[in-house]
Amino acid sequence: MILCITNREEVYGELENVLRLFFAMEPVRADSSEIPRLSVSHLAVLEGDRWIHEITIASEGKSRQWRTEYPAREESRLLSLRWLRRGAKLALYMALQDAFPKELPWGSLTGIRPTKLLRQLREEEGGAEAASRRLMDEMDVSPEKTGLLEEILEAQEGLYRYGRDEESDVYIGIPFCKTRCLYCSFLSADLSHPSARRWLDPYTDTLIRDVRRAGELLERTGKKPNAVYMGGGTPSVLGTDRLRRVLREARKAFPGAVEWTVEAGRPDTMDNGMLPMLRDEGIERISINPQTMQQGTLDVIGRQHRVEEIVERLLEAESLGFGCVNVDLIMGLPGEGIREAESTFEALRPLPFQNVTVHTLAIKHSSRLHEKLEEYPLPDGETVAEMVDMGREFARSRGMRPYYLYRQKYMSGNLENVGYALPGTECLYNIDIMEETHSTVAAGAGGISKKMIFAENRHERFPNPKGIEVYLREFDSIMDRRDAFFEGRENKDGSERH
Ligand code: SF4
Repeated sequence: MILCITNREEVYGELENVLRLFFAMEPVRADSSEIPRLSVSHLAVLEGDRWIHEITIASEGKSRQWRTEYPAREESRLLSLRWLRRGAKLALYMALQDAFPKELPWGSLTGIRPTKLLRQLREEEGGAEAASRRLMDEMDVSPEKTGLLEEILEAQEGLYRYGRDEESDVYIGIPFCKTRCLYCSFLSADLSHPSARRWLDPYTDTLIRDVRRAGELLERTGKKPNAVYMGGGTPSVLGTDRLRRVLREARKAFPGAVEWTVEAGRPDTMDNGMLPMLRDEGIERISINPQTMQQGTLDVIGRQHRVEEIVERLLEAESLGFGCVNVDLIMGLPGEGIREAESTFEALRPLPFQNVTVHTLAIKHSSRLHEKLEEYPLPDGETVAEMVDMGREFARSRGMRPYYLYRQKYMSGNLENVGYALPGTECLYNIDIMEETHSTVAAGAGGISKKMIFAENRHERFPNPKGIEVYLREFDSIMDRRDAFFEGRENKDGSERH
């Protein structure tokens, strides 16, 4: 156990995240009666226009101290907090690198949106070159990762649209799946439990009412629907007829939306009518997600489909004329290494798709994988990094370029997830979400609405309950509170500030 103490509570989260970079699986506590293996204390003192950060690391009766200065910015509360946090994080990172040297491609970066940071640095520095320099020199990000971020910002030119208060994105959530994948942490209802099937019809009916209310809300608040995304779980488990009903209602509720994406998801969740129905309903963009083309791995992670079904669905999608098909892959799955990654990319090479998203396995606390970690052999960080590079080469060999990126906690090798697209087929919704450019109204259990407050450069969130039963039972009150949240009426419970 690692004990972490600071005199500035508002930076504790950052310090904890930096400690995780070095000691991934070890618990970090702010307070404990147990004797810690390592204790880290941070003291920040404001001296004129600079923060002095003092870090002390103690272990086995010995202790060492480091002192770092970082500028203080006081123009606004948000800015001053940002600079305090950044300084604290860098101070601890440098001390830990000194005491426990470790190669980290993302250096001291712990946030999930490094592209946002690069944009901020470009504003602060007034130029691209100086911003990238700071990323490398001050924050210790490798030149390769810095180059990747630069490429992404370039790919987003013309697609990144910040500050459009008159527009809103829409998320429609279907929190069901056929079985639960080994690494999944966010599924609400696993249909392999027969009791969960009874929710399919009531959920569909309620979701339709939710979609209607969301459409009315946008109309009342004068917002134009922008990008609509249907995700999950796996939306296709609803079955063709139920999903068609939801989509028809959504088409009516969000007229003029510029982009429609449906995560068709796992091939084993699509009945034969699914893809033709999506095409008939005017859906241009879908995602078919193999994760790997190794049958043995698919069996281990609990997906009940054959590799051939992935091939069949991709060929079917091509023959139906979808404008954009995305394929999700995960590097670092149990039992996989370089050979398996090579074989997956070879199997995908002749197949038709326009986007590929290369994920790195993240071991989430609430996943089955986390519970039974010792039962599954995982590749080491270096191997996963090589597999991720192979994914990049594979995407490039098909003419795709990276256009969005995000990081998660507990990722193998501390790496990243990257979306690649053939130019002109990028998903606007993904860019909006990752760069936090638009408000989002979310329908369905577990959906999180987001209201941008552009004048203050921040947003507030309104989460719908994750549990399907609670969502159905409290539906009317959830809708009233969501309306109040977006319409700026008093909203005592539910909304969160960010
Ligand atoms: S397909 Fe996705 S949502 Fe469904 S169980 Fe697997 S990881 Fe979870």
